[in-house]
Amino acid sequence: MPEPNLEKLRDELQQINYGLLELLNRRARVVTHVHEVKVRDGVPLFVPEREQKMIDDLLDRNRGPFTNDTVKHLFKEIFRASVALMEREDGNVLRVSRAFRPQDLVVRVGDLEIGGAQPVVIAGPCAVESEEQMDSVAAGLARLGVRLLRAGTFKPRSSPYAFQGLGEVGLKILSATARRYGLATVTEVMDTRMVELVAEHADVIQIGARNMHTTALRREVGRAGKPVLLKRGLAATIGELLWSAEYVVSEGNPEVILCERGIRTFETQTRNTLDISAVPLARQASFLPIIVDVSHAAGRKDILPALARAALAAGANGIMVEVHPFPAAARSDSQQQLDLPEFARFLAALDLSTAGAGTAPAKEITR
Ligand code: PEP
Ligand code: MN
Repeated sequence: MPEPNLEKLRDELQQINYGLLELLNRRARVVTHVHEVKVRDGVPLFVPEREQKMIDDLLDRNRGPFTNDTVKHLFKEIFRASVALMEREDGNVLRVSRAFRPQDLVVRVGDLEIGGAQPVVIAGPCAVESEEQMDSVAAGLARLGVRLLRAGTFKPRSSPYAFQGLGEVGLKILSATARRYGLATVTEVMDTRMVELVAEHADVIQIGARNMHTTALRREVGRAGKPVLLKRGLAATIGELLWSAEYVVSEGNPEVILCERGIRTFETQTRNTLDISAVPLARQASFLPIIVDVSHAAGRKDILPALARAALAAGANGIMVEVHPFPAAARSDSQQQLDLPEFARFLAALDLSTAGAGTAPAKEITR
């Protein structure tokens, strides 16, 4: 028997190490692909039974000299590293991030584009109050070229004794009115049990500021098959808003429109402080469109044109504003709602002459 040449054996070991390294990384690349497919198809990412089956198969094939215990230990370590790799990827690249999708998302509502070249104007009363109220505001808004009508039917109110919205009756009034004037609708849902109903009536489902953190609601809305308008929470960071959108998107619905609506600060002259920085920062971090709700940000009417111009200059894809045919009589947010002539002046001040997507050329409005 010739003496084994130690150098040669060491060399062979080194070659095997290189081979193992190559195989481990090849395995990691396949794991990454499997992960992408699972995320795309919305199937569970980690299935312990499947891991157990892979281990059992390996132990059946094991002819030594490693014991089954050792083989099990080694492969468990490989599996653990694979799961860690997937978790790292999930944490690093949100599905709402620019890294995931570099180009802007355009959300289509009928033939209206949100996130396209032209900013949109979303307008309507704080709440649906009656057929007459909705008819007169929708007629005026349609005449001014608005295409997306907003109005609440389930209202989040500070007091449980205040007007809570007309609920299902309101939804029916909203959708019938919108149909009459060829408008699309956006309205808020506050309860998972109502998502199906609201999705039946509305073109865009709103998750309000108070529910931005409500996991069950954002998951349910993510499964509803309608574009989602997600409002920033009163005290939510921009990062938290994006994570919230990630919840909706993780359910298979990429059509989320972010909404900056002011955050709570020590300032008392406005209802909230409009965070203009959120617009470019969200657009930098995410491909999702972002609109600015100037009414709930300001809580007053006089500064709305200035805020809206600032929002558009900062890159907002649209403006949301509350308009009521007779604000003084509004059952909620009466102090901040524009009447129709005021809204006409507001639009003119925005100089949206090129904003064909959100508004058709304004016609003279009389009251
Ligand atoms: C609304 O848009 O009707 C509303 C209640 O706003 P927010 O959730 O931003 O307070
Ligand atoms: Mn309101």
